[in-house]
Amino acid sequence: MSENRERDLLAAVPDSLFIGGEWRRGERESTVKVYDPATGELIKEIADASPADGIAALDAAATAFETWSRTPSRQRAEILRRAFDLLQERKEDFALLMTLEMGKPLAEARGEVAYGGEFLRWFSEETAHVQGRYGANPEGTGRMIVSQHAVGPCFLITPWNFPLAMATRKIAPALAAGCTVVVKPAELTPLTTLAFAKLLEDAGVPAGVVNVITTSTSGAVSEPIIRDPRLRKLSFTGSTPVGQRLLEQASQGVLRTSMELGGNAPFVVFDDADLDKAVDGAIAAKFRNIGQACTAANRFIVHRSVADEFARRVTERVEAFGIGRGTEDGVTIGPLIDDRAVAKAQSLVADAVGRGASLRTGGSPIDRPGTFFEPTVISDVPAGSDILREEIFGPVLAIVPFDDEDDAVALANSTEYGLVSYVYTENLARGQRMIERLETGMMGLNIGVVSNAAAPFGGWKLSGLGREGGAEGIHEYLQTKYTLTPNP
Ligand code: NAD
Repeated sequence: MSENRERDLLAAVPDSLFIGGEWRRGERESTVKVYDPATGELIKEIADASPADGIAALDAAATAFETWSRTPSRQRAEILRRAFDLLQERKEDFALLMTLEMGKPLAEARGEVAYGGEFLRWFSEETAHVQGRYGANPEGTGRMIVSQHAVGPCFLITPWNFPLAMATRKIAPALAAGCTVVVKPAELTPLTTLAFAKLLEDAGVPAGVVNVITTSTSGAVSEPIIRDPRLRKLSFTGSTPVGQRLLEQASQGVLRTSMELGGNAPFVVFDDADLDKAVDGAIAAKFRNIGQACTAANRFIVHRSVADEFARRVTERVEAFGIGRGTEDGVTIGPLIDDRAVAKAQSLVADAVGRGASLRTGGSPIDRPGTFFEPTVISDVPAGSDILREEIFGPVLAIVPFDDEDDAVALANSTEYGLVSYVYTENLARGQRMIERLETGMMGLNIGVVSNAAAPFGGWKLSGLGREGGAEGIHEYLQTKYTLTPNP
């Protein structure tokens, strides 16, 4: 990968706020600094929005809503479809940009472009299918009309781990439904969202329909937007504690909210599982995105009779990983996002090992530029270890043995989260029982990756509210009106 290509790509990314169809500096002199986590080098400085800039973005979204919400759905669909096509043309640029600002291996970044793009295509197809109902009431005294309406201007807050897909998963259904948006990407990875806003502009999205604010002061900029009575919807993807704080703020305006929060996914391997498939699934469910996914398997709950063999096989695979900058050939493990993530992985491993877990491989930060942590396997993790309770968000695979099915279910459900669960068994009846017994918004049965634009993504319990994707996704941005009228 040539340095010139990286430099040219970064230079082409807008460095300003996108408000009301204009690229403009914020009112502050300060900048948001973006670093390459694989080298620790500063790669770009961009505008740092103030609270007043945030309100200016909401002004633009509120003004544009009048027209966009009345634009025929077919026209909205065609713009989204053009955005999908443009993303295919620019897919290599988007993949490289994500690798540079977030660190994921290039092959995975390409996968994210493919996945993220599907939301544009899916919701371009869904928008014309939103329908109402008309019919006689049961008494026969009148006609009932049920219609769907765009909820209004929305505020979309996205995390750093999937810079493109988390943006398209919100922007595409919002626009499809006729909503306008203010988007606030994570301060660690704002460049992909700015490049995507440029793409939407090129695709013909009208001025003010999509506005982007980048800021180093997320809390101070977000709160006035959330408390503004013109805002009608907040959609957030990020950690549970921040989501809880935002829900409190949103309660004042009784906002519609979608909350895609943290996870603590169990990965259950029964003694009747196909172990080859389970190991493949485990590697994907754990190490994709260097373990930094809300859907990452967090606890490997493995039947005692196969636990040692499972640990041996995953360790063998992990020791063969290529580690390095995501742009290099053969790299499957890039850096973690920052120092804090490295320190967290290290302390979770140290706590478990201190309580008696066996360290099979890895366990330490890697001494090189950037923020790297060794891919790690630990087994026989004792109950009470922090790693079983907290979201790891790093390349650490932790194995806990179990003895029978009830035991496995109790362990899997013993978490305040409920985003996704993975189960490996060749016994159909057991698989069906697990579908019924696990407290989870999503489940992979003999498969380690479940995300799909056509499916409802979302969690139970502290993992969130609402669904993104699928037929459900557009309804997060629609509200229902019931009208009664006398018989004709
Ligand atoms: P985070 O909560 O720190 O940040 C998420 C976003 O919120 C960022 O844009 C950040 O700038 C912003 N933010 C932080 N404090 C804020 C405040 N006070 N007011 C307004 N905005 C604020 O999370 P993160 O570290 O960026 O992402 C990792 C977390 O996201 C993990 O917990 C992961 O599980 C979760 N996640 C969930 C999903 C899902 O779909 N359920 C998907 C990806 C990530």
